[in-house]
Amino acid sequence: MKFSSTRGNAPAVGFSQALLQGLAPDGGLYVPPEWPASAAGAVAGESLPAIGERVIGPFAAGDALESSLPAILGEAFNFPAPLQAVGDGARLLVLELFHGPTAAFKDFGARFLAASLARIERAQGKTLRVLVATSGDTGGAVAAAFHRRAGTEVVVLFPKGGVSPTQQQQLTCWGDNVTSLAVRGSFDDCQRLVKEAFMDPALRARVEMSSANSINLGRLLPQTVYYAASSLAVMRATGQRACYVIPSGNLGNSVACLWAREMGFPIQRIVLAHNANRTVPDFLTTGQLLPRPSIATLASAMDVGNPSNLERMLALYPDARTLAEQVSAVSVSDEAIRARIRADFARYGQVWCPHTATAAEVYANLPAAERDAHPWVLVATAHPAKFREIVEPLVGSVPVPENLRRLYDLPSQFTEIDPTLTALQHATDHC
Ligand SMILES: *Cc1c(COP(=O)(O)O)cnc(C)c1O
Repeated sequence: MKFSSTRGNAPAVGFSQALLQGLAPDGGLYVPPEWPASAAGAVAGESLPAIGERVIGPFAAGDALESSLPAILGEAFNFPAPLQAVGDGARLLVLELFHGPTAAFKDFGARFLAASLARIERAQGKTLRVLVATSGDTGGAVAAAFHRRAGTEVVVLFPKGGVSPTQQQQLTCWGDNVTSLAVRGSFDDCQRLVKEAFMDPALRARVEMSSANSINLGRLLPQTVYYAASSLAVMRATGQRACYVIPSGNLGNSVACLWAREMGFPIQRIVLAHNANRTVPDFLTTGQLLPRPSIATLASAMDVGNPSNLERMLALYPDARTLAEQVSAVSVSDEAIRARIRADFARYGQVWCPHTATAAEVYANLPAAERDAHPWVLVATAHPAKFREIVEPLVGSVPVPENLRRLYDLPSQFTEIDPTLTALQHATDHC
């Protein structure tokens, strides 16, 4: 399959090229031209790598990576995505996406991308530089996925002071082929710098670059797999289509869910839970797209004022009205996040991370008739221990899973830079 740019001004490219390039040369994002009916052959209860072959296979068909796909999926999906009941009934479920090396859903996409890029032939001796802007979790997942992979180096850009101490540790504990940069600016500045680096012809001539942000198709496609698997499981258990509430920022995870529904998986409603950064909820109600600077919130990995993947949603559903028929979006305040973490701990004994809490809050505020009409799945995007500074004052101590504990003991190293391309180049000259 060949992928085209959302902006329509770049040649269509195959699977490997789309992953390698990250951003299309016209500044657009790669999207599939059609939707294989992957759901047709998929069976509930198959393993994630097996469902992955059905779902991603058609996209890689004819590409050099096609024959490596089973190995790539085996490496990427080597931890589970369990679906657990919340409370007594089987009507409310949580999809736990935080059992990977850095305890957030981004491990799935990052590991798939790393396993793929490592297998793409490169000119002899040429290193691949992966640039990644992060509002907290992406950088850690990408660094972990590429750490010590031969022929690759990672440059992580994060907003100075914009991530939790625990997150910062996960962004800066790697060393070796990972360079961590604290940018004096916001996440949007970090994202802009990555885009500028990509558009810079001089830099492109010197190093082979790729992006590991959710602008990269290689992050999004693997994320469709857990929606496929979980929706099939819900259908088998209840005979009904699942509705999802997805904590959303840059909209990568929610685009993956929309794509899974396009492929025919049994998904009913998709509701996006945003924090106080309300660009998307406002767009869907007013029809006016007003990107704005991001606001710092408790759910910091979702502090995005200008979500990149909205462009992919609009490639599917071209205007606010059509899009609003396909998804809804709700904004949740910090106050409501805190109250929800307390309330659901008291009611269910569940501890949410602040991001997952936005989804739980949106669910709790749905009209009862809507909650009752279908099984609902809350997408748990991170383990609460990643955000212990926020969660522990509300519910008491949160046990740290083994994968995270290991990272806490490593020494931290990073360089601070101004939010300019020159500063970025200077800091990465040694790479
Ligand atoms: C990245 C992230 C999100 C937002 O995901 P998008 O794909 O950017 O919408 C939500 N929760 C957590 C914990 C994250 O790390």
